[in-house]
Amino acid sequence: MTAESLFGRSARPALAAILDPDGGRLLVALDCDGTLAPIVSRPQDARVPAATLRSIARCSALPGVTVAIVSARVPSELRALVPLPGVRLVGLYGLMERSIPAATRARWRRRVRRLESTAIAAFEGIQGAWLERKGIALAAHDRGVRDPDAARRFARALRVVRREAERLGLRATGGRRVVEFIPREGGKDSAVRRLIRSTGARRAVYFGDSAADDPVYVLLRRRGLLRAGLGVHVGAGTTRAAYRVRALADVRRFLDRLREARTAGARRAA
Ligand SMILES: [Mg+2]
Repeated sequence: MTAESLFGRSARPALAAILDPDGGRLLVALDCDGTLAPIVSRPQDARVPAATLRSIARCSALPGVTVAIVSARVPSELRALVPLPGVRLVGLYGLMERSIPAATRARWRRRVRRLESTAIAAFEGIQGAWLERKGIALAAHDRGVRDPDAARRFARALRVVRREAERLGLRATGGRRVVEFIPREGGKDSAVRRLIRSTGARRAVYFGDSAADDPVYVLLRRRGLLRAGLGVHVGAGTTRAAYRVRALADVRRFLDRLREARTAGARRAA
């Protein structure tokens, strides 16, 4: 399926339904890396541009709008990247949220720990491969893998780890140059569904940039869930989103359009 341009003519009705100030509570959910922060070779060097942070802050102050960042990053990293008090930060795919019973989270941790031993053995000695242990999730990064032989070994090791993950009730979700193993019941789609429920949103828009965001786009299309749901993919590449924008700056452009629509609506009402 091809995604249409969010700012193109054919997207106008869908965009208008989201921008409409009288359409009911709106959830604006945003992925972080590759959507707000440009992808860099070392994840710890990633930054959200100041202008983007300003646009996010302004939108989160609008009445009837909730802005949430839904990311694979651990919560402390996410707070450092988006240090805005009015924004809901959902780190680690929402796997740490208080609404999830502690016993469930403990069960998830045990599954991930079992996978860790398989993964450590499988990826051992592969130049540039890097395992990130997050407790309730495990990420295998290949950003540093340059050598073709190492790339082949990484792919082979990944197959072994995927099989074991499946057996343990974990699912693999792919970002850019990273495969992440998380509890099957978790994921960005579950996190966004919880946000819709807890905020009482009647409309939602989600921006993402990788295969890890596809389940959210699928969720937002579901009939009966929302009055209007809009999935937007940032950049080129295949996606299950219905809409697409070209660059990260277009996410800011959307946020600024939303704020303008709301302030114009407030002026009319006054
Ligand atoms: Mg991303």
